[in-house]
Amino acid sequence: KLYPESNSDRLRKKLATKNKIKEENVFVGNGSDEVLALSFLTFFSGRGNLCFPDVTYSFYPSLAKLFEIPCEILETSKNFKINLNDISKNTSSVIFPNPNAITGLGLKKNYIEKYLTLHPDVFFIIDEAYVDFGAETCLPLINHYKNVLIIQTFSKSRSLAGLRIGTCYGDPDLINALNATKNSFNSYPVDRIASIAAIASIDDQKWHLDHINKIIINRNYLTNKLEE
Ligand SMILES: *Cc1c(COP(=O)(O)O)cnc(C)c1O
Repeated sequence: KLYPESNSDRLRKKLATKNKIKEENVFVGNGSDEVLALSFLTFFSGRGNLCFPDVTYSFYPSLAKLFEIPCEILETSKNFKINLNDISKNTSSVIFPNPNAITGLGLKKNYIEKYLTLHPDVFFIIDEAYVDFGAETCLPLINHYKNVLIIQTFSKSRSLAGLRIGTCYGDPDLINALNATKNSFNSYPVDRIASIAAIASIDDQKWHLDHINKIIINRNYLTNKLEE
């Protein structure tokens, strides 16, 4: 049988071990853009207003429009900071990258957790596409909250955008819901070669860390020169 594993079991097991969580907490898709699309349809569609910042990843408004999800724009401060307390009471769902694209500004896990605790009825997606470049991950929150999903990607800090590997972490009930949506579209979104290469990438921890460092050094150089 030459089809890929339907639920990317080996890769999910690898990701679970790496992140010290269970396989039931892990979902894998064809790039995080696909994971985002499946998540919007599964968790945001028909739920009411979706809130995201004015400065953010351009794909969110596109997906919201496609799935006819009403949007609410959260205005960032003068220095582009996201203030979760500014989210309106009418909001049903919230999504933002942490750190935010294109500002690179991140929120602390404790700050996000405080908002989650106070608003158990609001569904949260945190897009951690750039988390490896020095930000704090919110991954531990999935063990305590059923209203939060964390999405990550192999495209940025691993420079493997061509592989199309996006990952998602959450409560097993949320992962099951995502699987139901995924299986209605495409039961085999991650091909065999991409799965094997992704596992090899996780095994090569040293290359990943060296690569992250190179990019951070380059970022600091660029920041300094721009300030000069
Ligand atoms: C690049 C990016 C993605 C999409 O990455 P994939 O290549 O589809 O995994 C998602 N969210 C943000 C914030 C990004 O910058």
